[in-house]
Parts: sequence; structure tokens; C-alpha cells
Amino acid sequence: MGRRNALLITIVSIAVLVLALRGVASVFVHFDPALAPHKGNTKYSSIYNHKDRSLGEPVFNDEHIAGGIVDTPGDIVIDSSELPLSSAPGSGFNTSDNVVRMTISDLSHGNLILVNHDYRFDIPVDQDLVRIYDHKTPSFRLDVNTHLLAPHVIMPLNDMMDSFYAQTGHNTVAVISAFRGLSRQQYVLNEHIAIMGSAEAHRWVALPGHSEHHTGLAFDLGFYSGGRLRTFTGTGVYAWFRDNSYNYGFILRFPESGVNITGTYYEPWHYRYVGLPHSYLIFQNDWVLEDYIGYIAEYSQDEPLVTEYNGVVYEIFFTSDFEIFIPLNCEFDISGNNTDGFIVTMWR
Ligand SMILES: [Zn+2]
Repeated sequence: MGRRNALLITIVSIAVLVLALRGVASVFVHFDPALAPHKGNTKYSSIYNHKDRSLGEPVFNDEHIAGGIVDTPGDIVIDSSELPLSSAPGSGFNTSDNVVRMTISDLSHGNLILVNHDYRFDIPVDQDLVRIYDHKTPSFRLDVNTHLLAPHVIMPLNDMMDSFYAQTGHNTVAVISAFRGLSRQQYVLNEHIAIMGSAEAHRWVALPGHSEHHTGLAFDLGFYSGGRLRTFTGTGVYAWFRDNSYNYGFILRFPESGVNITGTYYEPWHYRYVGLPHSYLIFQNDWVLEDYIGYIAEYSQDEPLVTEYNGVVYEIFFTSDFEIFIPLNCEFDISGNNTDGFIVTMWR
């Protein structure tokens, strides 16, 4: 090996080492102790003062894409086999190893990650997303065919929309916004600032990095009437979603009753996937996700929250351990909370 080659290898090695260390450093940014103040309490600081909350009538969707109706194409074959039931880092049925080992990046992975004005979500480079258009049933619509969601959210979305259509006869509901990247979020924010000014815009639209739309777990609804896309107010026949979405793992993320906690105005159109039985517990208790994450933090593996939904008994608890013991022959799902630990759900 020539001297030049040796020098080259040395330079490349140093470059790789520097990059690796930078990667490690960025991972440890998650461990800001200021991000872990809420274990055991349900009070979340809001950066907004909502005493003066005259909503007026700017209740429009938080994205404006001009476009026609996109129906499911004629003979689409919906291949559900490609769609996983869960994308959690630790989930499945335990038949061998009793311990599931989590990583730091798993903290911001899973159905229960908290993303809000206080807690940022860094979009992973390998984020798994699929086009709703390619997998949807004909029971609902899209305003454009490019909307993306996490793969495991598609089946519950289809199920919810199919039920709504079967029960009401309306196939007028549309998903009008789903995954958004950082630049798209900035665009939506700028659009609102131009219309209503900065202060008001920030109560409707999250800063880039702080929107649930980055996670692939959230979407906004609209509906078509008279050939036009309308603002989803969640009233009349569409109140069905508020009252029934929990059966499919979804929550109305920004209810009117939660404005002081979420720091975001009432958004009747914005739904978030959290999975069952969490959506059921949140709905039954009239909570918002912030409440729920704080509530679960009180429960440990020794004394878990035990709840029953649809004949299945679930044990739910919080742990800050990265090695999680799962009993044999137990189904489980583990989600990071995007701050300081994991929420473990086990059932048989
Ligand atoms: Zn939204």
C-alpha cells in the first residue's frame, strides 16, 4: 500500500469518525432534562394565553389546496397485506426473548408520541409513508392524490370511513391534509400569517418541527358539498367522527375542551392515530393526549393501568428503562412518548 493510499484511508477514517460522533451528539439532544418535567402531572405549559379567545370565523382548514375530487380509481385492488398493523419499534407477540431492547431513537417512535408546541418531532430520514390513494377504499375522498400517512394508519382509516359510509350513506368526507414536511408546514404557517397576523396564526398552525402532520399519524378532514370542498366543522352528520373515531384508534386531537392544555384552537377537522385502547380511554375521560401521557406516567409495570376494551384486558404502564420485560405469550406494543420514556401496552 502506497503512502498516498494510507493517507487517504486515514483522512476517510477521520471523516467517518467525525460524522459518527455528530450523529451521536444529535441523538443525545433528546435528553434535554427540560423536556422531562411532566412525569406525574397533567399540567402542560401553554405558550398562549387563551383568555381572549374570540374565535370569530376563521375556521378553515389548515391547508388550502385547490383541487377537484379524487375518488378511488375504478377497479383498485386494495392490498392490505402490504400494510403493517403497527409500526412501533417493539410490538408483536412474545414467544422467546423476554426483554425488548429500545434505542434512543425509539423514544420518538410509536403511536403515542407527544408532538406539540413544547415537544418537537424530528422527521426521521427513513420515515415510512404510503400514499393513501393507493390503498384507500371508495368510502371517502381525497382532494389530491398525493397525501401520505404511516402504513399502519391506512387500515384503521379505511375501517372508520367504511363505517361512516355504511351508517350514514355519505361518501362526501375527504382527507385534505396528511403528512407534511418542514417546508410544507412553513408554507401553511406563512399563509395563515398573511391572512390573520402572526399571533393568531400561531394558535392555529404549529411551527415547523412541532406539527403532528410530520408524524404520518395525523390528517385533516373536509367534505364535499355541491361539488365544492367545505370546511369540516364536525357538526350534523359529521359529528359521527367525534363520537366514533375512538373505535378505530383515532382521537379528535384539538377538542374545544382542551384548548388551554393543547395551546391550539379547536380544530374539528384534525384527527390523530394513537391506537386502541388508548383512543378509548382518552375519549371516555374527555382528555387530550397531553392529559393521557401525564396520566399513564403514574403507572408502572408493578402497578399497571388495567383496562378492558372489546373483551380484551390491557395492561398499560410507563417506563424510562430501555430494556423492557415482556411476559411470554403476551402481545405487546411499545411507544416512545417523544420525551423521556416508553408507554408499554400488553394484552393476551
Ligand atoms: Zn391538522
